[in-house]
Amino acid sequence: MKYGLVICPSCGRARGVETSRKTTSCSCGRRVKLRRSMIKFETDSPKELAEMVGQANEQLSSGKKFRRRKAKESEDPFVRVARACMTLKDPVQRGEAIARGLTDELGEFGLDELRRVLAVLGSNDPEDLVRRLTEANMVYEVGGGRYRAV
Ligand SMILES: [Zn+2]
Repeated sequence: MKYGLVICPSCGRARGVETSRKTTSCSCGRRVKLRRSMIKFETDSPKELAEMVGQANEQLSSGKKFRRRKAKESEDPFVRVARACMTLKDPVQRGEAIARGLTDELGEFGLDELRRVLAVLGSNDPEDLVRRLTEANMVYEVGGGRYRAV
């Protein structure tokens, strides 16, 4: 199944459709005849479609034109580090990857930086992580509560 994003010609809101369909009914009540040319974005992932529709409506409601944002790297180094180790399930491996990522990005890090990465990953115990990493000799303290990956 393919999904597409269309913008309702009546209310200007984005919505997701199955591209095999001929028409769709918008929440504004307008029945929209679907044409190929109306599909702004196509995917086979309903999840990606939902994200894209959300993104489009956010842009449209603030008066901008819909522009597909590229899945480019986040501007935020903490988000970048978190993303890079999201798939690591083992807490020690993950901790090591975080420490290494922060060291690469910032040179050294403290509990605050660690906390910001952990927040993206949905956990919040930087003290515990630092203790474990220090014990495992994966990081060392450079002084003043700042750490670096070994
Ligand atoms: Zn509409």
